[in-house]
Amino acid sequence: MNVLKWYDTHQRILPWRAEKGQAPNPYYVYLSEIMLQQTTVATVTDYFERFITKWPTLEALAEASLDEVLVQWQGLGYYSRARNLHAAAKILAKLSKIPSDPKILKELPGIGDYTAAAIASIAFDYPIIPIDGNIMRVFARLFAIPYPLPFLKKEVFIYTSHMADGVYPGDFAQALMDLGAMICRPLNPKCAECPLTTKCQAYNEGKVSEFPVLKIKPEKPTRYGIAYILLCEGKILLEKRPLKGLLGGMMGVPTTPWGNEALNPEDFFKFEKNLEWYEVSKQVKHTFTHFHLHLTVKVGAIYNTNTVIFKSDGYGQKIFDGHWVTLDNLENVALPTVMKKVIKQIPDEIFKKDSKQI
Ligand code: SF4
Repeated sequence: MNVLKWYDTHQRILPWRAEKGQAPNPYYVYLSEIMLQQTTVATVTDYFERFITKWPTLEALAEASLDEVLVQWQGLGYYSRARNLHAAAKILAKLSKIPSDPKILKELPGIGDYTAAAIASIAFDYPIIPIDGNIMRVFARLFAIPYPLPFLKKEVFIYTSHMADGVYPGDFAQALMDLGAMICRPLNPKCAECPLTTKCQAYNEGKVSEFPVLKIKPEKPTRYGIAYILLCEGKILLEKRPLKGLLGGMMGVPTTPWGNEALNPEDFFKFEKNLEWYEVSKQVKHTFTHFHLHLTVKVGAIYNTNTVIFKSDGYGQKIFDGHWVTLDNLENVALPTVMKKVIKQIPDEIFKKDSKQI
């Protein structure tokens, strides 16, 4: 067990990890694994600390409101994770425990094969190896597996299913994760420091740079939209996005739908027919998993927050259901990163002055 020996002295110190000789805290493992979906350890660490300070137990998290959770989550991205985390915490708090069986874990919102295996093995020493990108890379090189994803994952699953039954499955899984993150890195792997050199086929054949075999990625499309910043007496008009879909449940300034072509502003909604909009010269650019987004930003002002605002979607007009939020209070609002970028476009002189002066 070269890998376990190596792990004993080289493991990463992570705030959700149990210290040597201590049992893992299943809540910490669960919370960290949800946060780590699609996100790096470096980014997650601060968020994790903030969450366990505010909600030290699963029960405390279950009692929080979804809005509170979304506010703490803002900036971490993939907001469906926050909604699922909150929904699952409520279910788990009723059970008074986190299940150890990956099949049961997978029935919870937001938990797929990988997360179920990671929680089960790390928190409960369940004999299963979660297959993440790091582990796939290690195995692709170790056995010189000649396939790109998704076939690589199936092949790695076959290899790992024979290995999980050994002693300390949790440590074994974490050792492989750490080895992938610290030694068998995507670029410039540190083979000289690796405990697996004698067994590594790619290394012994001098072909490390050829594995894993990469799949050619299709180019991400670009979508376009217009974001409207409407100000009134030091407040900004925000709307809550629908719970389902991208950035669901988060707050943001109203935008046109995000389409594949640059939009003609007249084709979509406007708030008040005669309102003059100031167009910010710089577009806001943001990249989501499946597309790039370019937003044109328009800033306008009205004089009374009680003004009834209509929104037209090109087919008809309806009363716009928005929330006026004081500009100074925006840090307490669950704003996704793209919306923070948009709001940053408010010219400084407008942000500081009363918006009536636009
Ligand atoms: S020897 Fe090199 S390529 Fe092989 S597993 Fe170790 S770090 Fe990765």
